[in-house]
Amino acid sequence: MEVFYSSTRGSGDKITASEAILKGLSDDGGLFVPDHIPVLDRSMRELADMSYQEIAYEVMKLFLTDFTEEELRDCIDRAYDSKFDTKEIVPIKEAEGAYYLELFHGSTIAFKDMALSILPHLMITSAKKNHVKNQIVILTATSGDTGKAALAGFAGVEGTKIIVFYPKNGVSPIQEKQMVTQKGDNTYVVGIRGNFDDAQNGVKAIFNDHEFAKEMEASGLQFSSANSINIGRLVPQIVYYVYAYAKLLGQGRIKDQERINVVVPTGNFGNILAAFYAKNMGVPIGRLICASNENKVLYDFFTTGRYDRNREFVLTSSPSMDILISSNLERLIYRIAGNDAGKNKELMAGLSGSGYYEITEQMKEQLADFYGNYANEQETAERIRQLYENTGYVVDTHTAVASAVYKKYVADTNDTAAAVIASTASPFKFTRSVMNAIDDKYDAMSDFELVDKLSEIGRVSVPRAIEEIRTAPVVHDHVCDKTEMKTAVRRFLHIGS
Ligand SMILES: *Cc1c(COP(=O)(O)O)cnc(C)c1O
Repeated sequence: MEVFYSSTRGSGDKITASEAILKGLSDDGGLFVPDHIPVLDRSMRELADMSYQEIAYEVMKLFLTDFTEEELRDCIDRAYDSKFDTKEIVPIKEAEGAYYLELFHGSTIAFKDMALSILPHLMITSAKKNHVKNQIVILTATSGDTGKAALAGFAGVEGTKIIVFYPKNGVSPIQEKQMVTQKGDNTYVVGIRGNFDDAQNGVKAIFNDHEFAKEMEASGLQFSSANSINIGRLVPQIVYYVYAYAKLLGQGRIKDQERINVVVPTGNFGNILAAFYAKNMGVPIGRLICASNENKVLYDFFTTGRYDRNREFVLTSSPSMDILISSNLERLIYRIAGNDAGKNKELMAGLSGSGYYEITEQMKEQLADFYGNYANEQETAERIRQLYENTGYVVDTHTAVASAVYKKYVADTNDTAAAVIASTASPFKFTRSVMNAIDDKYDAMSDFELVDKLSEIGRVSVPRAIEEIRTAPVVHDHVCDKTEMKTAVRRFLHIGS
């Protein structure tokens, strides 16, 4: 059965998956949602014998119904290849009886790679299907992680170019080094004299500049976005929850139809929404445990039914979760409002206006699948140290938030069903915070000394992504004022004066 997509804010027609991938965001500011969640047409036993790529096909074919089998398999094979440092793509590690689903074995050692390694291929396939002749230009503002993952995904992909703006003094030295050493003729990285908001606002202004769009068109170019609300990023994230269940079943760790819980360190709500979609496809998942850091807006939402971004923004050691507006939550709100775009639109207007909204009792009742909690900085560090001391396994700060929240969940509910914890970054990506948590004597060491020490005590080899940046030459050294972003774009694309 075909799946069509429409906006959570109601305007516009139903469109195909490939059209939704090309558009990214609906013109009315809403997010594209499928008109129904398809149910898996393979049994978990059948899936248990399949590779990651085969399972990816079985899941994605049900959502991207206007892609042919050949197109979809081609996208999958190009994405999940030797860019990943293990054939399994997402290994599962057991520690203290919980299953850590390692989503960080791709080129930038964070879970964004799971979606951003396939998105470029889905996008150019979508362009071909819709007879778009233009080259696709991806324009992104980044606070660190997404920029590098998008660069790595799009680098060298024919028919695309990618431009990333980052705040020159607002990212970590390792994050900057990862970006400015990015290879590929179609990549362009620019530091902005300003903060992340300046970069983001500049990008939005260029996106909304209709005159500029016409000039682009005349040069055979058009903009698109690799933003996390693109349905082409959400669908590939459902795959690994299906994969995790199938593999645990195949390994005899769970029985047929046994319910598992899933724990997700959450920021923009994309990853946990993918787990919710997996549950609705028929994966026997019990609770979806939403773990926040001190920016606990989602915990407050799940406990009170009121979403309120009016609060202090806290910088934590899990920066990819330092978010006060979880964009993907809108897809869940739309659903619990009974797919009522009018109601959803009203709530979102409240959020952008006064900064909050409150859902009805009836909507709240439909959130029973979710459990929210949070871990503060001390609890997060304590969890890294404890887990290491008990088992020798080292997790990153984001995963540690999830692990700490999972402990709170078990204490609260006595629910000891098997649990899968989404492990979203390699500890090598946040080496200093991780090593300091284990023992503060490491604080005197340099970044790369810490990397070697972590490899030694954790008994894991240094990931290729880190080895590469030790010696890689800087190939992007462009810096500009926040007012010069359009000029920078013109220069790279060779358009206008
Ligand atoms: C992006 C990110 C998250 C948050 O994922 P969402 O889908 O935005 O909720 C968690 N951990 C890491 C390491 C990330 O990069």
